[in-house]
Amino acid sequence: MTDAARTDAARAYALDRKHVFHSWSAQEHIDPMVITRAEGPSVWDGEGNRLLDFSSQLVFTNLGHRHPRVVAAIQEQADALCTVAPAHANSTRSEAARLIAEHTPEGLDRVFFTNGGADANEHAVRMARLHTGRPKVLSAYRSYHGGTDTAINITGDPRRWANDHGGAGVVHFFGPFRYRSAFHATTEAEESERALAHLEQTIELEGPSTLAAIVLETVPGTAGILPPPPGYLAGVRELCDRHGLVFIADEVMAGFGRTGRWFGLDHYGVVPDLMTFAKGVNSGYVPLGGVALGEPVHRTFADRPYPGGLTYSGHPLACAAAVATIEAMREEAVVENADRLGREILGPGLRELAERHPSVGDVRGLGAFWALDLVSDRERRTPVAPNGGSSPVMSALGAACKRGGLLPLTSSNRVHLTPPLNIPDEDAREGLRILDKALETVDAAVRSR
Ligand code: PLP
Repeated sequence: MTDAARTDAARAYALDRKHVFHSWSAQEHIDPMVITRAEGPSVWDGEGNRLLDFSSQLVFTNLGHRHPRVVAAIQEQADALCTVAPAHANSTRSEAARLIAEHTPEGLDRVFFTNGGADANEHAVRMARLHTGRPKVLSAYRSYHGGTDTAINITGDPRRWANDHGGAGVVHFFGPFRYRSAFHATTEAEESERALAHLEQTIELEGPSTLAAIVLETVPGTAGILPPPPGYLAGVRELCDRHGLVFIADEVMAGFGRTGRWFGLDHYGVVPDLMTFAKGVNSGYVPLGGVALGEPVHRTFADRPYPGGLTYSGHPLACAAAVATIEAMREEAVVENADRLGREILGPGLRELAERHPSVGDVRGLGAFWALDLVSDRERRTPVAPNGGSSPVMSALGAACKRGGLLPLTSSNRVHLTPPLNIPDEDAREGLRILDKALETVDAAVRSR
C-alpha cells in the first residue's frame, strides 16, 4: 500500500468519525473498518490487508465486487439516460422488469420498483391491506424485514423492540427452527407439522377476518439462515388460501441465486401472492428493490389508483445494473455455481469443521448461504452470545477471522458465511481454512468456562 493510499484511508476514517452517523449503532462505540478497494471476492482495508469477503457486504454482492459487465452497464446508462421520473416509461426499466418476471414464480409478472428491501416490504403490506380491506399482518419472530416503520414492526428480531409502539397491527408467531424448536420437535416432519398447527391456531385466535397477510422470509437470513422443513411453505400457502390472506414472500436476502436457485421459493415449489426482492437483483451496485405482484393483487389496482410511490422507483442506473446482473448470472451459470458451492465445498467443509470444533452446535444452509450456531454446551445448546447481543467470545472470533484475512458476518451467537455466488473454489476453501483456525478461539473460551 502506498503512503498516499494510507493517508487517504486515515482521512476517510477521521471524517467518518466526525460526520457520519451510522445505522444500528451507539455512535461513540464503533470502529468502522475502512475499505479502500474491492475486487471479485476480496476487499482491502485501510492498512492494505486483503480480506475474503464472506459477508458479500450485507449479503448483496452476489457477483462479487467490480463485475465488469455490471460496471460497464452503469457507465453506459449514466451516459445515455442517467435518470427519469417513475411516471415515464424507459427501455432499461422495462427490460429489468421483463427479466425479473422471467425468473419469479409463475404468475408474478408485474414489478413495482423500490429503492431497497424495507420499502418493498412496506409496499407489499400496504397492497395486502388494501386488497383484503383487513388491518393486521402476521410475521415470524425470527425474521428481519427492514428498518422503516412497517418493515421494522414486522421484523421479529430485537431491533424491533425500540421501534414497536404496539400500534402497527403486527402479530408475531414462531416459524420452524428445528435446532431451537419452540415445539419440542425431534424431526423435520414434526417441526413442520407443529409449526403449521401453531400458525393455524394463531390465525383462528387472532380472527381471520382481521388479517391481511402473512409475511415470511422464505429462508430466514439474518435470524440465522433457517431453511424451512419440507411442507412448511406449502402449508402456509394453504392456510392463506383457506382464510383469504395474502402470502408475502420476502426474498430480499435469499433471492437472486443466494440459495442455489433463483429464489428460495424454488426449492419448495410454492407461489406467493406478492414477492419482495432487493440486494442480489443487481448485486447491490445501485440501490434497488421491488415487489413482484401476482394477478389478483394487481387487479385490485386496475381501476383504482395504488396510493404509493417513490421518486426513484425504477431508477435507470439501478435497472441497468439489474439487467446486466441477471444477464451475467444466466451466461456465467452463477446460480448453478452457488448450488454446487453449497453441495461440494461450503456444506461439507462446514460440517467437517463442526466435527472438530466443540463450539459448533449446528451447521445450516444451502447454496452460498450458511451459518454456524456457536454454543458453550452442545448438549444444552447454550448460545455463546444472547439473541441480539454480542459477547467477548464472538468479538474475539470476528477479530481472529479478520487477522487471518476473512470477513464473515457475525450476529448474536452465529457466524454467517455468505460469499459471492461466483467465488473461485480455491478462495472458498481458503475462507474455510481461516475460519477453522479462528474457531479455536471460541473452543478455547468455551473449554475454560
Ligand atoms: N428483508 C430481508 C430478508 C433482509 O435481509 C433485509 C436486509 O437485510 C431487508 C428486508 C431490508 O432491506 P434494505 O436494508 O434494503 O431495506
